[in-house]
Amino acid sequence: MRIVIDEKAGPCGGVKRVIKLAERSLAAGDNVASRGEIIHNNVEIARLEKLGLQTNKETYTGSADNTAQKLLIRAHGAGPEVFERANQSGVEVIDGTCPVVTRSQKTAKKYHDQGYQVVVVGKPKHAEVIAILGHCDNQAKVVHNLDDIDQLDPQRPTFVLAQTTINETYFFKMLAAIKKHVKTVEQRNTICAFVSNREDQLRKFAAECDVVLMVGGKNSSNTRVMFGVCQSVNPRSYWIETAEDIEPQWMIDSDVVGISGSASTPDWLLKKIAAILRKEHTSAT
Ligand code: SF4
Repeated sequence: MRIVIDEKAGPCGGVKRVIKLAERSLAAGDNVASRGEIIHNNVEIARLEKLGLQTNKETYTGSADNTAQKLLIRAHGAGPEVFERANQSGVEVIDGTCPVVTRSQKTAKKYHDQGYQVVVVGKPKHAEVIAILGHCDNQAKVVHNLDDIDQLDPQRPTFVLAQTTINETYFFKMLAAIKKHVKTVEQRNTICAFVSNREDQLRKFAAECDVVLMVGGKNSSNTRVMFGVCQSVNPRSYWIETAEDIEPQWMIDSDVVGISGSASTPDWLLKKIAAILRKEHTSAT
């Protein structure tokens, strides 16, 4: 059996950046707390917590209930009120917002300030979406499914953007439905290029393997999308967080087992899982 790691897998630029910011600050001896889980990967969070990172609630604003001197904003970003409250509490902010997300926030704010009805296609409870709403005075609307479109004002000029990690086909389906309901619509496809380019690469990789192991957090939107891509071309695709999740029967009659990961899956974890599988399957190359 051959165990191959998808050479295009590995964390995206935004995830690498925020992890580096955390590591740098912890190495300098700072007392750092992240607002919500720094990334959607429990294994990587555990590693960073061992180095001293505190993970606080998503509602944490750097205020008195915590002794951390520094507040780390993760790649999903945060609304302006979070920065203001940390500032008022004398807590220094380390801004790990991904530059791609910052661009979405600025675009949404620009249209909101011009009086547009701003619509984000994505998950209403996703941290990135909540942050974008914050940059629009919490007046932007979220469309997650077709029923949500009824809440939109059909007469107002409308600007539509996407949560960065959603599937492109889904975005355009929602956009077409919004255009049927609302008179004047402008749009920007703000899906991250890392995510959209990955889909084609991953489809090819998954089709070449007998079995695919998609490694990523169960709470990661991007992993969900990437896993769906694998399943669409290879029914023997499995979503795992660690090597312990692997069931031996998955490997029956398989010559090539492929290991891939989402935007928040660290390289070291893919290598570790490959090493474990190679050890277990002695004929592995
Ligand atoms: S997936 Fe894209 S938008 Fe999201 S953190 Fe990574 S680089 Fe940034």
